[in-house]
Amino acid sequence: MDLLDQIAQIFADFVNPKKRIFLGYIALSALIALGFLVVRRKGARGAWAQAVKQILDPKVFLSRSAIADYKIFVINRLFSFLISPLLLSQVGIATAIYFALHRVEFLHPGQFSTLNQPTIIALFTLVLFVVDDFSKYLLHRWMHRFPLLWSLHKVHHSATTLTPVTVYRVHPLEGVLYTLRSIVTQGSVIPLFYFLFGSNISLYTVVGVNVMVFVFHVTGSNLRHSHISISYWPWLEHLFISPAQHHLHHSTAERHFDKNFGAALAIWDWLFASLHLSKGETSDLTFGLDARENSSEAQLSVLYLQPLRDMARISKRLLRRLVLRPALRLLALFRSPRSDPKA
Ligand SMILES: [Zn+2]
Ligand SMILES: [Zn+2]
Repeated sequence: MDLLDQIAQIFADFVNPKKRIFLGYIALSALIALGFLVVRRKGARGAWAQAVKQILDPKVFLSRSAIADYKIFVINRLFSFLISPLLLSQVGIATAIYFALHRVEFLHPGQFSTLNQPTIIALFTLVLFVVDDFSKYLLHRWMHRFPLLWSLHKVHHSATTLTPVTVYRVHPLEGVLYTLRSIVTQGSVIPLFYFLFGSNISLYTVVGVNVMVFVFHVTGSNLRHSHISISYWPWLEHLFISPAQHHLHHSTAERHFDKNFGAALAIWDWLFASLHLSKGETSDLTFGLDARENSSEAQLSVLYLQPLRDMARISKRLLRRLVLRPALRLLALFRSPRSDPKA
């Protein structure tokens, strides 16, 4: 493969409609931001020019944090070989689940295959999207809950400015976990539908993308990682995560910690009490990590290696607490048996 092919492969996501940073979605997000800013200034003189200037703010796109995002994007694409072999496991999971379903007494193959085709396709499209979104919520919540996983996830939160490329600012091991998540969800939902509805299942798609994912992207998914804070009406923020709500997720204010884990749907945050509405909260936000965290906004060696050091330290502590100490206690019991006074 020549150098040009390699470069094209690194930047392939920008021309792939399955990816959030597809240039078409970025352009649409910019248009939404433009419309929002002009309407907010009530079309005052110079509103358009000011809005364009604000959207293209070099203080954001050329910040130390953003430049680190761009470098991490390129480096992580080179790490993508870690992920490709994992994809094979999806077939294994799907096959195992498909055969396991045959043993469930109250289910039988093709049980609902008489339903009309459009209903089956709509159900499959909806269920795949909802289950996928819920699994993202769950893994994201665990990333914040468990110190071992937080060591990795804090790379994403170390960003002090947000640009659409920040979505790629993740440690490669977090990338592996998210791929495993996708493998497990797709490897479960696909065989279930295949079993219950027959082999004629397909998705409603636009440009090869699940129509619901497509709607999520064309309605400004990229603004979640941007400096343009768009809120929804409070009732809508109970259903869908607004860009402003994801900004709160990145905020350094303590009241925003562990809130708004959702990707597209806010119902999971609402159901599990982690929802934070954006009304009256969007001005003067600062993004990044608590000063006590061992990290950096831009130093790549810290961003890639510190998580591994932290994981090693936490694993050692866990090993000592959960294995070594109980084992020593057990050993002590055997070594010094209490003498029985009656013996
Ligand atoms: Zn997070
Ligand atoms: Zn984020």
